[in-house]
Amino acid sequence: MSLKILLNGSKGRMGQAIAAAAHDMQETIAAAIDAGDDAAAHIGACDVIIDFSSHHATGRLLELAVAQRKPIVIGTTGHAADEKKRLLGLAAQVPCVWAGNFSVGVNLLFALTRRATAVLGADYDTEVIEMHHRFKKDAPSGTAARLLEIILEERKLTAEALKHGRSGITGERQPTEVGVHALRGGDVVGDHTVLYAALGERVELTHRASDRGIFARGAVRAAQWVVGQKPGVYDMQDVLGLK
Ligand code: NAD
Repeated sequence: MSLKILLNGSKGRMGQAIAAAAHDMQETIAAAIDAGDDAAAHIGACDVIIDFSSHHATGRLLELAVAQRKPIVIGTTGHAADEKKRLLGLAAQVPCVWAGNFSVGVNLLFALTRRATAVLGADYDTEVIEMHHRFKKDAPSGTAARLLEIILEERKLTAEALKHGRSGITGERQPTEVGVHALRGGDVVGDHTVLYAALGERVELTHRASDRGIFARGAVRAAQWVVGQKPGVYDMQDVLGLK
């Protein structure tokens, strides 16, 4: 039987791509809601929630998911660190897939970044560059944020190592810096490069998304997977069996 999905952010670019993906994958969007609609009025009739909207919406939606014991898939990005910590506490009470990127290719990029950072280490200056369409409201992207988390974990650095852009007399680059650069323009769906530069060679890992369908299909696949899980916060590596 097809899953009944409550889709939050349904009028957005991702919302529309998810509705198309759900249709192709024989699932049902039972409630398509957006800003101004009341999720509480629809949640009872749905099996699972998918949220690709605004970071303002996630808290209320998670509270509803917990109250109604509904599994949830969260793709929304742009949460501040302290906000996200509180939301993760709520998310852990229901089965939840929370991912900064739902594409298979990017999840492979996460795994390759972990490996490359471990092998190359502090001798290789590491910078993350992302580019997105001109309409994107947050920076750096959720995917870049996850890549940076992986790099910091492997290098045993804290968020203080991050250098968001450079300007003026910055002095020489320190080996403990991890640069972050967000480019914005046109209709770019999402490009991410992790660059490792040493004296004499450079390694670049790049993923380019050209169609939002990759995230949308991943989100529906996550919804299909999460309904059978125990409460807890999972990511796409769990859904894809990459762990
Ligand atoms: P968009 O601006 O095209 O659409 C967002 C939609 O959410 C709009 O229709 C807007 O009206 C709606 N919205 C805003 N506030 C709301 C609220 N409080 N309640 C319900 N709906 C609300 O943006 P988009 O490109 O579709 O992206 C949406 C989110 O998904 C962003 O945070 C983006 O970064 C994220 N995203 C994640 C992935 C991923 O793989 N995790 C991929 C692409 C985009």
